[in-house]
Amino acid sequence: MFEKIEHIGIAVRNLDQAESLYETLLGTASYKRETVASEHVITSFFGTGPNKIELLAATDEMSAIYKFIEKKGEGIHHIAFAVEDIYSEMQRLKNEGFTLLNEEPKRGADNKLVCFVHPKSANGVLIELCQEIIEVSEE
Ligand code: ZN
Repeated sequence: MFEKIEHIGIAVRNLDQAESLYETLLGTASYKRETVASEHVITSFFGTGPNKIELLAATDEMSAIYKFIEKKGEGIHHIAFAVEDIYSEMQRLKNEGFTLLNEEPKRGADNKLVCFVHPKSANGVLIELCQEIIEVSEE
């Protein structure tokens, strides 16, 4: 079961410009910028009450965000849902016939394990599952 919408991801061409526009729009500053090198993206997060907005810009042409914008232009890229156990949710969705874009959860921005569901499986919407990574300190 999905717990809640964790954030909405928006693909943008120019992160500086979009960040400043969203600061004005939302009336709050971005609280974090983070590059996810493996995904070729730089992200910027905003909090609006209990919800978050994630702006995503490509760092190069290898990025899925680059390809998305080339094809569809800027706009809503994905909806992310928080899950408690990403492994069991991935298995559940697989059993239900959904196509997952990654076989194993991968490390995403904002200290999360993430997995994506193919938009073809979900009426054209890219769905992200994310689980907070809880660091266990070894003593
Ligand atoms: Zn996301």
